[in-house]
Amino acid sequence: MAFEGLSERLQGAMTKIGKKGRITEADLKEMMREVRLALLEADVNFRVVKDFVKKVNERALGSDVLESLSPAQQVVKIVNEELTELMGGEQEPFLFSKKPPTVVMMVGLQGAGKTTTAGKLANYMKKRENKRPLLAAADVYRPAAIDQLQTIGKQLDFPVYQKGVEANPVAIAEEAVEEARMTGRDLVIIDTAGRLHVDELLMTELKNIKAAVQPDEILFTVDAMTGQDAVNVAKAFNEQLGITGVILTKLDGDTRGGSALSIRSVTGKPIKFTGQGEKLDDIEPFYPDRMASRILG
Ligand code: GDP
Repeated sequence: MAFEGLSERLQGAMTKIGKKGRITEADLKEMMREVRLALLEADVNFRVVKDFVKKVNERALGSDVLESLSPAQQVVKIVNEELTELMGGEQEPFLFSKKPPTVVMMVGLQGAGKTTTAGKLANYMKKRENKRPLLAAADVYRPAAIDQLQTIGKQLDFPVYQKGVEANPVAIAEEAVEEARMTGRDLVIIDTAGRLHVDELLMTELKNIKAAVQPDEILFTVDAMTGQDAVNVAKAFNEQLGITGVILTKLDGDTRGGSALSIRSVTGKPIKFTGQGEKLDDIEPFYPDRMASRILG
């Protein structure tokens, strides 16, 4: 599971300080050194770490925390709160259109988990929000992607709008939205093409789809296992496309989890869901406070 290393090290640092009745500035410094190392080792972006440590220090040294009755608990509480804040604070709601259908564009690099996550999200929205999804296959460069989406559609019993590999992805997206309107589907999830790297052609196509269907959500799907790179790619997609949120996949894998902690502060965009397995049920909304508590144990 993700965060094991980070969790262990942070908990170690917290336990150590927790045993002390009184805490000196030197104790705090020692603890923060460990926290810093733990975060860096978990692949959290170094600027994010620096900022985080600064904030916790300022709060711990200010307002008489060290002189309080339970200084260790206060410090642990501050770390928890700042971790929560780092990951976005409050959980961000999903943006539904006031005028159905709600249109969602899934974007990201190839292999990130877009197609699978499109299915997972549709499944989740049906179960939890009572939505009637329609999936749209706008990744026309990989015939396998269309087949994969159709298989998912069949499994979940959702219609899949597709026009094969010859059609124009922008037209597919537009027609899918129209089809949803005509057939009373209130959620359209568009699976778009990914490439191995961020490139101009891909971005232009995505921008054209965005302009054509004006999605309510543009969800950047990213593999948490890719560490620091996840953050760089998220930044690029956000700058070019203006994403509305992030879905972090493969958190069930052996990832160090750093991207979960950096993406929000680097892009300013919230993580809305996480993928925690290959099955179509393996999706969870992202709650920064729960994740912080899970990491701190
Ligand atoms: P796409 O190229 O972005 O559309 O990626 P796919 O949806 O085809 O996913 C690539 C691979 O990652 C597939 O083998 C998926 O089963 C797998 N995958 C996607 N999400 C998750 C996840 O949350 N956990 C795990 N373990 N595997 C995932």
